[in-house]
Amino acid sequence: MSQKLVAVKGMNDLMSPQIEIWQFVERTAREMFGTWGYSEIRTPIVEDTALFVRSVGEVTDIVSKEMYTFEDKGGRSITMRPENTAPAVRAYIEHGLGQQPVTRWYYLGPMFRYERMKTGRYRQFYQIGAEAYGPADASQDVENIALAWHFLKAIGIQHVTLHLNSLGDAPDRPKYLEALRAYFAPHVATFSDAAKETFERNTMRLLDTKEEALRPLVAGAPVIGDFLGEAAKAHFDEVKALLTTLGIPFVIDRTLVRGLDYYTRTTFEFIYEPPAGDNALGTAGTVCGGGRYDNLVRELGGPDKPAVGFAMGLDRLVLLLESLGTRLERRPLLFIATMEPELKAHAVKLVTELRMKGLAVDFDPRGGKFKRQLDRALAVKARHFVVYGQSEHEARAFKIKNMDLPDGDPNKEATVPLDGLAEWLLNAARVAPVTTPPGS
Ligand code: ATP
Ligand code: MG
Repeated sequence: MSQKLVAVKGMNDLMSPQIEIWQFVERTAREMFGTWGYSEIRTPIVEDTALFVRSVGEVTDIVSKEMYTFEDKGGRSITMRPENTAPAVRAYIEHGLGQQPVTRWYYLGPMFRYERMKTGRYRQFYQIGAEAYGPADASQDVENIALAWHFLKAIGIQHVTLHLNSLGDAPDRPKYLEALRAYFAPHVATFSDAAKETFERNTMRLLDTKEEALRPLVAGAPVIGDFLGEAAKAHFDEVKALLTTLGIPFVIDRTLVRGLDYYTRTTFEFIYEPPAGDNALGTAGTVCGGGRYDNLVRELGGPDKPAVGFAMGLDRLVLLLESLGTRLERRPLLFIATMEPELKAHAVKLVTELRMKGLAVDFDPRGGKFKRQLDRALAVKARHFVVYGQSEHEARAFKIKNMDLPDGDPNKEATVPLDGLAEWLLNAARVAPVTTPPGS
């Protein structure tokens, strides 16, 4: 007996009726990010392991326990990308793009993290991200944030709150770290081994700990906002002022440090926070995270180029849209049934011609009895149904049944000449769209 083959745990097959929502989100992103001056970058799924260790940081959840790291046949250590900022920076440096004053990229694709799975948390998940290299100005931060904000609106998601913080510049850190270490030091003896190690090796990472027991202590910890230098403070003030000018509401979250090491100055998250207790995302409410990373390009061996970007979790957006009633699967506008074998060629030709006019028309290639074909039309949720029989063929006209209307409805049946069929269908599609778009 052979073993049943199933997908790897935490990795999902994506198909209808959800895939149409994925496609809608992706289509909207490509369209909109392009308009905003971001062009697509596609980097390989795997990279040198060192890339992530050096950028995301050794003492982060991602690098310490979530990476899919393998040795390839050449004995190199490679890692399936857990995020796309570091690969994009690697590409930016490798292709010498530091010559350009401004480079704006977006990416869209799967990321891999060996995580504990629950709602909205998978081992293969998808991100759309947008990165801007070059400008250090606050207006670049705000442009990037505004793109995320307007994109979420464009796909029909309400009730997301922008959480904002500043992590300051590298020179602001030592004083802060000193204060942080002094704060945690008296409690270290009670820490788990993992937390002890975090304290020793990267104290700031304690702030985004997932250990519940540490939360109350973390809540009272000193915040970086009290240690910002003049330049970082002025930058943050400008970010806030510009957001206000653009009418983008935000809350200051002085504890927002994000789970990766490379951030400087602005950090932000968009969190789904519905008014009542109907949160489809549960504890996975963060749909987007990002910020400035002014030192990463240089730290990875490139020129001194500031940068800012975000990554959005697509799985969560799709989950949310679905829970909000979005239905985008395509239903055939018309199903053509033919029982007579000698009419098959005519019917197939008609189906093809209508399809070439952009009309979703279906038929059953198996042919067969009326009942079987009607069942097929119902199974694919066709909106209209017609029998292409000898009399229709001769009269060059069809009696079309609207499958969405109850028997006895005066509009249940319409007689449509063959010549006017395409136009009739176009009109039918216009008056009653087959899908439920987001936010409707
Ligand atoms: P979290 O604190 O929830 O683990 P994170 O800080 O690890 O989030 P980022 O690395 O900032 O997440 O990734 C940006 C976005 O990608 C997240 O806000 C989320 O929407 C999505 N994301 C991250 N990890 C996963 C996952 N395992 N499954 C699905 N989506 C994810
Ligand atoms: Mg995480």
